Amino acid sequence: MSHAPRASPVTTSEAPPARRFEYAPAPESRAVVNIRPSYGLFIDGEFVEPTDGSLFETVNPATEEVLAEVSAAGPGDVDRAVVAATRAQREVWGSMPGKERAKYLFRVARIMQERARELAVLETLDNGKPIRESRDVDVPLAAAHFFYYAGWADKLAYAGLGPAPRPLGVAGQVVPWNFPLLMAAWKLAPALAAGNTCVLKPAETTPLSALLLAEILQQAELPPGVVNILTGAGDTGAALVAHPGVAKVAFTGSTEVGKSIQRSLAGSGKHLTLELGGKAANVVFEDAPLSQAIEGIVNGIFFNQGHVCCAGSRLLVQESVAEQVVEGLKSRLQTLRLGDPLDKNTDLGAINSPQQLEKIRELANSGEDEGAERWSPTCALPDRGYWFPPTVFTGVAPAHRIAREEIFGPVLSVLTFRTPEEAVAKANNTTYGLSAGVWTEKGSRILWMAQQLRAGVVWANTFNRFDPTSPFGGYRESGFGREGGRHGLAAYLDV
Ligand code: NAD
Repeated sequence: MSHAPRASPVTTSEAPPARRFEYAPAPESRAVVNIRPSYGLFIDGEFVEPTDGSLFETVNPATEEVLAEVSAAGPGDVDRAVVAATRAQREVWGSMPGKERAKYLFRVARIMQERARELAVLETLDNGKPIRESRDVDVPLAAAHFFYYAGWADKLAYAGLGPAPRPLGVAGQVVPWNFPLLMAAWKLAPALAAGNTCVLKPAETTPLSALLLAEILQQAELPPGVVNILTGAGDTGAALVAHPGVAKVAFTGSTEVGKSIQRSLAGSGKHLTLELGGKAANVVFEDAPLSQAIEGIVNGIFFNQGHVCCAGSRLLVQESVAEQVVEGLKSRLQTLRLGDPLDKNTDLGAINSPQQLEKIRELANSGEDEGAERWSPTCALPDRGYWFPPTVFTGVAPAHRIAREEIFGPVLSVLTFRTPEEAVAKANNTTYGLSAGVWTEKGSRILWMAQQLRAGVVWANTFNRFDPTSPFGGYRESGFGREGGRHGLAAYLDV
């Protein structure tokens, strides 16, 4: 593996001894994916050169290798894409019977499944996430969203959204880098099922899977202009959401950018949904099955390197079992494998960008400065690429920055509570409201907690579970609107 990161031991700490199996390397072959040296913009069914844009490089965060050169769309390119989408919506897609639209969506889903390995390897190369996750989560869930919404395309009148709901027109959709393909699927599938056409902008550090999706759309013979994909950075996104031809804006990303989009659209009459950040509480009661809860805590915060908006980044554990849970957690973390994301044994991959790594470092340092106790397992970090070890902070006070601010990395803040009321008060002590987890044996307590917790999604005795049939979204600073399920259609229909 010429691109496998080399490992050198750099991070150590006093850690309880743990049994760790040695595995032979099991790298997935990158030969399954053909990365072009350079990519244009996908407008009106074709890859075209930018007219007023520029070029930028996309990098493998695990090795710092340049993967490809990608186009950054300028305002003129945004206009071309919106014009193509408007024409396609009016002349083709908006008037096509739902059952015909469904056939295209089913076809896209099936081709995604056929090309799953290629999509997974490309996602891992461009994003840094472990192949196990891109293979078993991102790609199958992305295909499942197309399958699910294909089923709705001819049943919109029965979705409980009025007898004849109509599409909005052109949807301008901006997605982040943590689940590039999956977020594209969350945005595109319901919009297309409802009869809208789309202009999608992937994040600047992870454009490649959306560009492979564009090839899949060509393969599915989706009519030109129905989906347009514009790569570029924040200014491309800003030009897209501001374009007067866009009827609906769907944004997933940081709260800061979400707020600026909301301000810029005020009074424009455009429909808007925002999926923003989070600081979820994962609440463990003393009667919970603790070994399962520990697995849930690990999955809650270390899945996708903690680059998850709904990550369980605040562990609230009942005082009577706090020591036991933290010890068990530390022992479990000793067995996590960090390294080459293409290796099928890897649990924790690379941090997506140097900017994100810097943000995680800065917030973790603030935790130490404010008096919390920092711990990481004995862990070898590769010497090239962007890496951060799994980190646990104990002795965290609710006022600490690491208890309040979204770190978006593999860093867990542990707080304790004594009573259910205190757990609720601490869990809700956040400006966000995206997700939460509850671990307890008592069904009545699960229901009571779910009613008290101010979060869009509450998981019980599990965490980070996603399904296309289930609505997902937040409130307060986590945004508004729902993606997934029947509710996800409402955002794309004039009801
Ligand atoms: P970001 O807001 O910087 O970027 C997100 C996207 O917006 C990118 O495509 C970026 O190019 C674009 N963008 C940047 N400035 C813009 C502007 N002024 N106008 C329009 N588009 C603009 O966020 P990020 O760092 O890419 O993503 C991480 C954040 O996303 C985290 O805070 C995370 O919580 C959040 N997130 C939320 C969800 C959710 O479903 N709620 C899902 C994933 C990520």
